[in-house]
This record gives sequence, structure tokens and C-alpha cells, in this order.
Amino acid sequence: MTPVTKSAIQATPVKTPALPDAQTVTSVQHWTDRLFSFRVSRPQSLRFRSGEFVMIGLMGDPDPKTGKQKPLLRAYSIASPAWDEELEFYSIKVQDGPLTSRLQHIQPGDQIILRPKPVGTLVHDALLPGKRIWFFATGTGFAPFASLLREPETYEKYDEVVITHTCREVAELEYGRKLIEELKQDELMIELIGAENLAKIRYYPTTTREESPKMGRITELLKDGSVFRDLGIETMNPETDRAMVCGSLGFNMDLKEVLESFGLREGANSDPKEYVVEKAFVG
Ligand SMILES: Cc1cc2nc3c(=O)[nH]c(=O)nc-3n(C[C@H](O)[C@H](O)[C@H](O)COP(=O)(O)OP(=O)(O)OC[C@H]3O[C@@H](n4cnc5c(N)ncnc54)[C@H](O)[C@@H]3O)c2cc1C
Repeated sequence: MTPVTKSAIQATPVKTPALPDAQTVTSVQHWTDRLFSFRVSRPQSLRFRSGEFVMIGLMGDPDPKTGKQKPLLRAYSIASPAWDEELEFYSIKVQDGPLTSRLQHIQPGDQIILRPKPVGTLVHDALLPGKRIWFFATGTGFAPFASLLREPETYEKYDEVVITHTCREVAELEYGRKLIEELKQDELMIELIGAENLAKIRYYPTTTREESPKMGRITELLKDGSVFRDLGIETMNPETDRAMVCGSLGFNMDLKEVLESFGLREGANSDPKEYVVEKAFVG
């Protein structure tokens, strides 16, 4: 065997790894120092149901020993609806987070990795037919609902669509607030969904830290009945009400308890019932 000499190693051309499943960033919008949204090209073959998530990321740093680079991927809800020709994401910026410490700096024209295998439980198929759908979100948990609020099926299936979004500060509500406001005025949306259908949206934002017109955790506001009083809804009824939940693990657990107290049962893709839950992040 020919011994590998230093010069032989140096002569080996350094290969820049081609980005697997690359998609191009088309726009980026920063909402706060902790939140941003961005849009990327959509692979032609990607089919998904509004509300699902995919794995996205960037190439990781080279391994100091081998020099090899591996993709650094994280789960992300697709915030755009299934019919959109691009894909939208709504992201946290974790300053020491392996992915988002870098992802927050992407610019139009940059590439990201997108594994085209959508999955998730926040889909219409996982719920039994009902009259009113509740979307309960905290923080970036709004993302799957940004998709479902722009999905015509939501309005075909329900007479009323209640979206609650709870954040610490008012600025953290802005992505959702603006999306809903624009949705109701957008010509394409009106054509696709119908102005009368878009009028079914009831938006219920709350903050837990900064002063705002409605303060408090949504779990408490459900328990003390304020949500129902504010929206002029009697209460939650397992015959008519359906719910999708997306927030931190603690939020999901607390809300599950509240929903079960109203008689709603947790469903899944294979076993549709009255509510479904998805984590907005792990940790
Ligand atoms: C099913 C699913 C869907 C997800 N969808 C989204 C999404 O649409 N948008 C999004 O920003 N993130 C989403 N996440 C979280 C995402 O996968 C990453 O955790 C996030 O991008 C941070 O990655 P990171 O490598 O920078 O830090 P990580 O090492 O992944 O996380 C570091 C810490 O930051 C905190 N954290 C992570 N994500 C969030 C978040 N979204 N909000 C508040 N705190 C967080 C947690 O405490 C975590 O321990 C989702 C996670 C799951 C499981």
C-alpha cells in the first residue's frame, strides 16, 4: 500500500459539499429582536397539508477532525398554506441556538436546506366535523395557524374560526395581527376564500407581561369564562367545538386539561376526535 504522505493529502481537492435539498430564500422580515419570518422557494414535488411541519436548516460547521459538514436541521411548521407557490416560516431567534443563531442572518438569495417530508397533527383530517374551530397559540406556535387561516378548507368546514395568540409582549403579536388584518383585505384571499368566510375569523390576542387591551394566560381566561364573555360565545361544547393547540410543552399540557374539562377528547390523524396538539418547540 502506498503510504499517504502530507503532500498527497494537500493535493486532494477540497470539495465544497453541495447543499442537499436546497431552497432559495426569497424574502426575510424581522419582527422583534427574537422573531423573524422568511419565505423560500418551494420544491415542485412538495405536497403538504396546511398545518404540517418539515425539517429545515443550514449546513453545520465542518467537523474539526474530519472536515466533514453535516446538515443542522430543526422542525418548523410551514406558515404558508398548501396552495402557496412559496413556503413561509415564522422563527424564533435563540442567541445561542445552534440553528437560529445563524438562521436569523439569512438574506434573500441565500440557500437553506428543506427536507421535503411534511408531517404533523394540526391538520383538518385529525378532527371530527364541527361548527367552530379554535386555534390556540403561544409565541411561534402561531405558525401552523398562519397556514390554516389561509386555507380555504378551514372555512368550508367551520362556521366560526377563533384564533387566540398569547405572547409576553405586544410586539410579539405583530406577525399574527398583521397577517389577519391583511388576509381580510387581500384580493387574492377574498377571491379564494370569500369575504363572508374571512368574516368568520375572531382574533383574540393576549399578553402576559406588557400592558395590552387583554392581559392574561389563555388557560386562565378560559377557566374564568372571560374568553366566552368577550366573544359572546356560551361555552365550549364537544358537539360543536373543535380545537388545535400549538405552544410550549407546559402550555399544551395546561390547555389539554382545560379542553378535557369541557368534554373534548384528543384526536390524531388515525383517530380523529375533538382536539389536537403539537409542540411549538422542544424544551
Ligand atoms: C413540531 C415542531 C415544530 C416547530 N416549529 C417551529 C416554528 O415554526 N418556528 C420556530 O421558531 N421554531 C419551531 N420549532 C422549534 C425549532 O425546531 C427549533 O428548536 C428552533 O428553531 C431553535 O433552534 P436552535 O437550534 O437555534 O435552538 P435549539 O437548541 O433547538 O433550542 C434552544 C432552546 O430554545 C428554546 N426554543 C426553541 N425554539 C423555540 C421557539 N420556537 N420559541 C421559544 N423558545 C424556543 C427552547 O427552550 C430550546 O431548548 C418547532 C419544534 C417542533 C418540535
